Amino acid sequence: MNTADYISLEDQYGAHNYQPLDVVLERGDGVWVYDVDGNKFMDCLSAYSAVNQGHCHPRLVKALSEQAQQMTLTSRAFRNDKLGKFYQTLCETTGYEMTLPMNTGAEAVETALKAARKWGYRVKGVEPDQAEIIVCDGNFHGRTITVVGFSSEAQYKEDFGPFPPGFINIPFGDARALEAAITPNTVAFMVEPIQGEGGVIVPPQGYLKKVRQICDKHNVLFMADEIQTGLGRTGKLFACDHEEVRPDVAIIGKALSGGFYPVSAVLASKEILGLFRPGDHGSTFGGNPLGAAVASEALTVLTEEGLIDNANELGEYFQERLAEIPSPHVKEVRGRGLLIGVELKPEAGGARRFCEALQDRGILCKETHQTVIRFAPPLVIKREDVDWALEHITEVLNME
Ligand SMILES: *Cc1c(COP(=O)(O)O)cnc(C)c1O
Repeated sequence: MNTADYISLEDQYGAHNYQPLDVVLERGDGVWVYDVDGNKFMDCLSAYSAVNQGHCHPRLVKALSEQAQQMTLTSRAFRNDKLGKFYQTLCETTGYEMTLPMNTGAEAVETALKAARKWGYRVKGVEPDQAEIIVCDGNFHGRTITVVGFSSEAQYKEDFGPFPPGFINIPFGDARALEAAITPNTVAFMVEPIQGEGGVIVPPQGYLKKVRQICDKHNVLFMADEIQTGLGRTGKLFACDHEEVRPDVAIIGKALSGGFYPVSAVLASKEILGLFRPGDHGSTFGGNPLGAAVASEALTVLTEEGLIDNANELGEYFQERLAEIPSPHVKEVRGRGLLIGVELKPEAGGARRFCEALQDRGILCKETHQTVIRFAPPLVIKREDVDWALEHITEVLNME
């Protein structure tokens, strides 16, 4: 089978809910991936920041395969010997008191929304079924019906209504709009500290601090969706750490397992997560020993191997060097750590053709929002890899 055969097989039997680049990958190692024709590419997407630890990290391969031979799934009807240790590693690494494990990011977001509503009724004293949660325009929190219901992206919602009520949208990065939108029924504000899918949008300096103050003043939970920005991607454990702000609820996923297995989690205080009673919420696979074993190791790899500092150092370097590239097409380079967006001018003809040109030169990127090229390589990247990529990016950003 060649590339065309693999693609036609996918297209024949699978729903076409993605438009992937025409590259069929079969192997990965660190920042590098290899296709079925033997071509080598630098992965500058990292599966939307799920592979922060690099492809097939040997310690994660070991943790996964050892656990797979031992025990994979118990369900939460029984306890397993890996879950408690995972909780402990997660809470000690992040400084939160409690966690609730799920699988995908969207499930963790749903869990956080449930937690916020429950807290609103039980602790804040909001009347039944009146809770309001404030979210931002341009958000991306996943693809469930509840979550797309408060997306401002028309295509995410089209044909999928009706949607659950109780969500209010405000502009991103605007602290005044947040304060103005709060009512006595507001239980939470949920926000991405940097909007990833929205186009790598960095809010104004001081925004998250103001959000913290406003939420404190009005007794509203501050919930950060750190699924993409968390776990080292931006050069700190959490993107909120750049403003030394601690949300009441942090939602993580993606890199929590280093891309081996879907593992997500909600992190919060006992006051919030302690409200869940047996039977309130659950997931067959959530907290399974295979996921717990690999996620514990993935967190340890992040901290022990200095990946967060590397993201900070090389992210700054990458971003500075990108901004220096003389190019007729670039409007702005922005981001934090190794979450970098290059926004092209409207007349550049869209980001897709630049991503395809980068693919021809051995770099895999994905455009976001038509005009932004996102560079988010695994955090194990080395300076010489960045330099190699910059050479090719310079050429591509100077094509006709
Ligand atoms: C990817 C992502 C999600 C959804 O995660 P899934 O695992 O795809 O469900 C939610 N929020 C943010 C910020 C994300 O980047």
